[in-house]
Amino acid sequence: EAKAGVVNSFKFARRDVNSRAYRRLVIEQELRQALERKEFEVFYQPQVALHDGAMVGAEALVRWRHPQRGLVGPTDFIDIAEEVGLLDAIGGFVIDDVCRQCGIWADIGLFPKIAINVSVSQCQQPDFAANVLKAIEKAGVPPGMLEIEITETVAMLDPRATARELSPLRAAGVRLAIDDFGTGYSNLASLTRLQFDILKIDRSFVSECVRDGSARVVVATILTMAHNLGFEVVAEGVESAAQREFLVSQKCEYGQGYLFGKPMPAADFEAQFAEHRRADARDLLGQIRRTA
Ligand code: C2E
Ligand code: MG
Ligand code: MG
Ligand code: MG
Repeated sequence: EAKAGVVNSFKFARRDVNSRAYRRLVIEQELRQALERKEFEVFYQPQVALHDGAMVGAEALVRWRHPQRGLVGPTDFIDIAEEVGLLDAIGGFVIDDVCRQCGIWADIGLFPKIAINVSVSQCQQPDFAANVLKAIEKAGVPPGMLEIEITETVAMLDPRATARELSPLRAAGVRLAIDDFGTGYSNLASLTRLQFDILKIDRSFVSECVRDGSARVVVATILTMAHNLGFEVVAEGVESAAQREFLVSQKCEYGQGYLFGKPMPAADFEAQFAEHRRADARDLLGQIRRTA
């Protein structure tokens, strides 16, 4: 009895391993095809100035429009893409596509700030900064429209090297952001070495900052420290008005989250951003008329 059980579970384990390996192979094959067939797409999630709700830009987030499975989010394919060495190609597509899109927006007089996520292996390529600058130039994008986001853990692997590799981008006017801040146990001195512009507080702290006293202290402390070091701060994952109020009370400049908008196709973001700009223009005109 017991023996049969062991044998069966061994067989089961073997089958499990095989099917996982098989599944990986299928996904790898599908990812290669997806690149060829241009199934990747960039979605844009609005970022707003917290004190007045003005839409200032968006974070670019990759999606896979799978022919059978529909829209697939990055958490379902980025790890595998990285393991099989396809993340650089996907990341390259994202940079080119965002630059192309920003070139079009700049042509029609829209200048949202757009943040692009970059992986470890991508930013460790020796010609990474030069390639981004080429894409920017080719598409005619004002460099100030773009931000590069690197997660805290990646940035801190070797802060000096990271700063050195990315400095040509910063010199050209591209802004640099530290993503998911608070999850990586960085020491504060290394942070100053990075010469970044923006710090994004991780969603895990923002989502708890109303309910949980210690998350509130963490958020308040990050904000004080960040401002003293000259960073602007974006809070990730803002979902409620109460969270927004707390963040405003702590002088957090920008927010991103479902409260303001989910990631959406470029055309939808463009429509919302343009409407915000028109509303701003109407407000300004109203002020001018009142004071004239
Ligand atoms: P991230 O850079 O921290 O991006 C924010 C993630 O939080 C996004 O998930 C976004 O949809 C989600 N989010 C935003 N606001 C809220 C909210 O209010 N509530 C909740 N529950 N979630 C919110 P997404 O799009 O699934 O992306 C996951 C991660 O995948 C990103 O985290 C980023 O690390 C990575 N990623 C996305 N696009 C790219 C890319 O083009 N290249 C690279 N290397 N990584 C990417
Ligand atoms: Mg990000
Ligand atoms: Mg983030
Ligand atoms: Mg995050």
